[in-house]
Amino acid sequence: MSSNPASFLAGTLLRREVLDLHAYHVPDSSGYIKLDAMENPYLVPPALRAEIAEAVASAAINRYPDPGAALLKEKIRAAISLPPGMELLLGNGSDELIQLLALALNKPGATLLSVEPSFVMYRMIAIFTGMRYVGVPLMSNSGTSDSRAGDFSLDLPAMLEAIRREQPALVFLAYPNNPTGNLFPAEAVAQVIAASPGLVVLDEAYYAFASDSFIPHLASYPNLLVMRTFSKLGMAGLRLGFLAGSAAWLGQLEKLRLPYNVGVLPQVVAGKLLAHHDVLLQQAQQIKHDREKLYRQLREIAGVQVYPSEANFLLFRVENATAVFNGLKQRGVLIKNLHGGHPMLQDCLRVTVGTPDENERFVIALKESIDKVE
Ligand code: PMP
Repeated sequence: MSSNPASFLAGTLLRREVLDLHAYHVPDSSGYIKLDAMENPYLVPPALRAEIAEAVASAAINRYPDPGAALLKEKIRAAISLPPGMELLLGNGSDELIQLLALALNKPGATLLSVEPSFVMYRMIAIFTGMRYVGVPLMSNSGTSDSRAGDFSLDLPAMLEAIRREQPALVFLAYPNNPTGNLFPAEAVAQVIAASPGLVVLDEAYYAFASDSFIPHLASYPNLLVMRTFSKLGMAGLRLGFLAGSAAWLGQLEKLRLPYNVGVLPQVVAGKLLAHHDVLLQQAQQIKHDREKLYRQLREIAGVQVYPSEANFLLFRVENATAVFNGLKQRGVLIKNLHGGHPMLQDCLRVTVGTPDENERFVIALKESIDKVE
């Protein structure tokens, strides 16, 4: 027990779940080629930045933001071709929406179910909101003769069985998945939605880099919401995400949204950027192209096993991943070390696709780091 009175009090008063949590760790990235957080490496062209600067200069930051963000919602609707009759709920990043959903569905004993490995915030938020958490393993190297073993594909029979057994109030599926990068087959996802007694949220954080979306199918499922973020499309600094779905769901969930969760500046700037959605999508196109090149380059490096990706990052396995990760850091490149985060991610690293120059420097540093370790 600590002799510091404040630590003692915090340790006594805080909930056990909070004391047991490990904070979501964000490393200091200053000075590095930053390929750790799935950001878009590009700014928008100078003319558009000047337009944004002008809009920011005249923004009414002395006033609270429009609580309904009507103008911004109109822009989002148009940009994503939201089907008629469907609504939007905005979040301060999509993290906030995961929390809002957990708070809303957390009846006593309610379960949040997802797959593993996946986005760690599903589990963290389940735990700190007091929900039961169940993680269904993706296909791994061990204990199965299935030909897909080891590729992190969805284990549909296990998933359907877990849904039947656990009756989850809330299911999160990242589509494509983070940190594995793969897009589960749409037919399998459809079966998960149909089999779920609770709400299913498809987290399309990486939609701009993927070949499929469930937004056009929202009206087909009464228990489906699609969640997206603009963080990966060049707006990570703005903090803006949304849920899309029927008014029946979003009208209720809206009650839990804090009134001014999206500030004046994010509303103004995202509005301007979305008016030029084509520019952002062009950047995403470039990133997809560079992802394929980087994938081929990684495949050619002896000792590297790289996984196919429909996101703006690549997952790969390499012997002594932590030593390789440190070698990259010493050479000025910061990626994400997933080793130790989950048993199925042993010796796994994740690199965000950067600019062609950053990717090239990463590949050189990776080869050097691997050679050094061997
Ligand atoms: N969902 C997934 C699958 C993610 O990978 C991330 C970010 N890493 C998020 C949601 C959260 O994004 P944000 O809070 O920036 O909107």
